[in-house]
Amino acid sequence: MTVTTPRTETAAETSAAPSVEFDGRIRNGRLDPGVIRRDFPMLTVESHGRPLVYLDSAATSLRPQVVLDAMDGYYREYSANVHRGIYEIGERATAEYEAAREAVARFINAPDAHEVVFTRNATEAINLVAYSWGRRNIGRGDAIVLTEMEHHANLVPWQLLVQEKDGDLEFIPITDDGLLRQDVFEVLLRLKPKLVAFTHVSNTLGTINPVAEMTAAAHAAGALVLVDGAQAVPHIPVDVQAIGCDFYAFSGHKMLAPAGSGALWARRELLEAMPPFLAGGEMIREVHLRRSTFNEIPTKFEAGTPDIGAAIGLGAAAEYLRALGMDRVHEHERELVSYAFAALDREHGSVVTYGPRDPEVRSGVIPFTIPGVHPHDVAQVLDASGLAVRAGHHCTMPLHERLDVPATARASFNVYTTTADIDALIAGIGEVKRIFGE
Ligand code: PMP
Repeated sequence: MTVTTPRTETAAETSAAPSVEFDGRIRNGRLDPGVIRRDFPMLTVESHGRPLVYLDSAATSLRPQVVLDAMDGYYREYSANVHRGIYEIGERATAEYEAAREAVARFINAPDAHEVVFTRNATEAINLVAYSWGRRNIGRGDAIVLTEMEHHANLVPWQLLVQEKDGDLEFIPITDDGLLRQDVFEVLLRLKPKLVAFTHVSNTLGTINPVAEMTAAAHAAGALVLVDGAQAVPHIPVDVQAIGCDFYAFSGHKMLAPAGSGALWARRELLEAMPPFLAGGEMIREVHLRRSTFNEIPTKFEAGTPDIGAAIGLGAAAEYLRALGMDRVHEHERELVSYAFAALDREHGSVVTYGPRDPEVRSGVIPFTIPGVHPHDVAQVLDASGLAVRAGHHCTMPLHERLDVPATARASFNVYTTTADIDALIAGIGEVKRIFGE
């Protein structure tokens, strides 16, 4: 069955009809996190008897009420399968699911919602490309260019592919400031790679990479470009047409949507030429005992029953963020980053941070180490005060090797983060230093 265009008003359309001030969430053109926080039920939760200070949004974000309501609405009011039932609630489920796809397409400025494939997460979206496009297009001696700052999700699928196909991986190194070495990228492009794949925003360093410029350079060298947008879509405006890339992958759960939601955007002609990834029901047109033909895009890549409620939640999250305005979200996080660096420098000069200091190329992710204290101990002491930060290698082990640290603690922000949260972090670091000594 082909994708149907919804005729009734859907949850995605009604959930966040943008008003100028979006009901007080925007004040004088800026986000008001005090008002925004009321949308997030998790922010009323206590941790160790203290109000939760959630500074782990890069691992997964919290979800606003509109997203919870959109999912709940599906399960309570029209809980049917999609693209199947010729009855009222089945048609409503299909309409809402496809409206969510439209909302996601609008959010990343995709030219056509049929180019948006729903996946479980960014990892699945990248694997889809590696298995489907990669296995058909990468052969012996072909190079794929990645970067030293990739999340394992944009590294391991390519390792498996080149091991199987006898291809090569090349890596763009980083500067000591955590920026990509564009001079080395230029040299690597002379190898005429088939694919260049890099993260839009680093989940560890917070670096915002110059994706449009890098895409143009890769295309000029004849390569296709995959951008891992998992840490970009929650924090900065993303326009896949302006970037000009070929594939853009992201997860829903970092952008206020449910876990189990995500998407791959790819140019239509690529998706149409690619063989299926997973096979079974829904992705077929005709099945005979010994052969089958396949559905149109995007359904060709959505085998089996999808996570319908999560996709509808993703649509609601995309509309909520769009109503807040991604320029305003970016500005809010820029201010938080500047505030955090200033406070750290003032109060805790011995704390080491990683990644660029320039707020123009930095998103709301701050990895840090306290000399002499293991990051897990840092996180544990902070946890006792109700602060949630992540400690570990953040699925970037090669990057941590490059930084020459086994692990870091990481504080990360989102639309509901306030300067008071950062003050709590600064006080918490003081407590760590008091317990472990300077
Ligand atoms: N890429 C980046 C940059 C990430 O930060 C993450 C999640 N930490 C992923 C990919 C993988 O996301 P998921 O686990 O949701 O598939």
